[in-house]
Amino acid sequence: MSASSSEAGAAPAHHQGAAPRAAGGALLLDGKAVAARVRAEVSERAAAFAARYGRRPGLAVLQVGEDPASSVYVRNKRRSSLEAGIESFAHDLPADTSEARILALVQALNHDELVDGILVQLPLPKGVDANRVMDAVDPAKDVDGFHPVNTGLLAQKRPRLRPCTPFGVIRLAQEYGIALTGARATVVGASNIVGRPMALELLLARATVTVCHTGTRDLRAEVERAEVLVAAVGKAGFIPGEWVRPGAAVFDVGINRGSDGKLVGDVEFGPAAARAGWITPVPGGLGPMTIAMLLSNTVDAAYTRAGVWPPPSLRRE
Ligand code: NAD
Repeated sequence: MSASSSEAGAAPAHHQGAAPRAAGGALLLDGKAVAARVRAEVSERAAAFAARYGRRPGLAVLQVGEDPASSVYVRNKRRSSLEAGIESFAHDLPADTSEARILALVQALNHDELVDGILVQLPLPKGVDANRVMDAVDPAKDVDGFHPVNTGLLAQKRPRLRPCTPFGVIRLAQEYGIALTGARATVVGASNIVGRPMALELLLARATVTVCHTGTRDLRAEVERAEVLVAAVGKAGFIPGEWVRPGAAVFDVGINRGSDGKLVGDVEFGPAAARAGWITPVPGGLGPMTIAMLLSNTVDAAYTRAGVWPPPSLRRE
């Protein structure tokens, strides 16, 4: 959103007054604070579900092997589930578990009435076909939103369970009153779990969307045009701050270790923050939002499985 854009800031953004600014002027999009709000909503809906159906919504988290980063994510997801009043079912399998055994467990979870959401933590060990495992998850329990049925529904503008990180970007934009309709949005990265569904979410929000990837000829030109920029590349500081359009809304999905061992995003933060209108910090941006949207999806899945559609979070009054 350029500073001159008539849509920028047009919506009443209740956070803008109080939100802290990064050095140079961009408003910090506080993923931690918004995620806390989403989690509070989830807790209320989970409690209402438990009161009505006599059980808590359930999330099964399946981890194969002990990838250290995955273990941290999985621990966080389990703790956040419990705090939100969601039952957590842990399935930790050894790294040498066969694909057949993983598929059998997924089938058992598909049929388990107490399980509303199934999360398969990626990456899976070498030799296991991740697509096959993900495809085996019942789409109604696919709280990651990675199943081709859920991706397809999103592509056809009738989303059900939506991929958590892209959904988190949309929710953050809404919370800060960042107008997406008509905005020139550029997504850098085209993976199945972030870039592609992000493009579909932005299209659903009626932005004009460009998707960049390793085949893109002139990345700088594409980034410079972006009023809304989403970076999902996986390379520390890959997008120079000077490429950022003045006044743009920058959503940095990347989580990388910088040379000093600290977590950094895909965008060169300092110089980008000096030019942008809004920017997400790393950490504290889309990481917490992703977990919050996962919990929200789990409660949505529970209500949907109980025959309530649309679930409370998706109703428009
Ligand atoms: P990925 O490796 O699957 O995809 C990276 C994408 O970047 C690819 O589409 C590739 O074409 C593109 N790319 C790579 N080099 C490029 C270049 N030189 N020019 C243009 N495009 C280029 O990664 P992913 O799974 O999509 O994850 C991306 C980043 O997001 C990672 O840092 C990951 O850790 C992070 N991530 C964060 C969250 C979160 O909760 N915040 C969730 C998922 C992923």
